[in-house]
Amino acid sequence: MTTPPRRPPALAATERVVSGLRAAIERGELQAGDQLPSERELARQFGVSRPSIRTGLKALAAVGVLQIRHGAGTFITAGPPALASEPLSLLAALHGFTRAQLFEARIVLEVSVAGLAVERATPSNLSAIGNEVTAMFASFGDPDAFLLHDIRFHRAIAAAAHNPVLVSMVEMVSSLFERVRHTTIRRARDLQEAADEHRAIEQSIRAGDSERARQAMSAHLRRAERAQDAERHAAAGVSPLTFPGRRRSGASASAAPARNRRVVRTRTS
Ligand SMILES: [Zn+2]
Repeated sequence: MTTPPRRPPALAATERVVSGLRAAIERGELQAGDQLPSERELARQFGVSRPSIRTGLKALAAVGVLQIRHGAGTFITAGPPALASEPLSLLAALHGFTRAQLFEARIVLEVSVAGLAVERATPSNLSAIGNEVTAMFASFGDPDAFLLHDIRFHRAIAAAAHNPVLVSMVEMVSSLFERVRHTTIRRARDLQEAADEHRAIEQSIRAGDSERARQAMSAHLRRAERAQDAERHAAAGVSPLTFPGRRRSGASASAAPARNRRVVRTRTS
């Protein structure tokens, strides 16, 4: 039998900070990019302790409303809303979202976004998209730089759809993949192929061909999904047709259970 947890005494004060700042944002008194007063000043304004201020600011930072820049201060998040990966990665862990489900969501979202980008892209959107493609072609020797431009390319397309909700959603879903992708080894041939795919997307957006842009985005993301799966399974020493779940990545093929080896033999590709 458990007793209900006792409410920490500071919680009410923290809630006052969170709801007070939220209200100021909703009233437009605080806007994107604004710097908040110092902790000391906030403590005075809210009539609470500095630890309560700090806890409140951290809570708002965790959901992407604030950015705490050490040494510089606390700011209302500017730029594309960074509701970021945290809430979604927590949900993913809690509910066991699979990579296939996440990829499907990403494809549904980004294919539609590519279609909207064709209709709404401004000349400056087009040049931002084009710059990322050019940078990708210049980064074959540096997979980390390539990945960065890949991420920025998808962001630039989302921006060209001119819907901040979609920008935020694309950011949220795609950032979940970044961590995985940083751990995978990118070969030069893969980078060339990926750069070509991005260029095909860019060209169809420039050509104003919505259907071709959607198809190119879909083909790109589907290939990326297959490539990542193959890389992950190669790293884990198991066949791409088995789902390793929480298998440790150090497991070798010879240590794989017989069930997995049987699947290897029935692979068609
Ligand atoms: Zn890409």
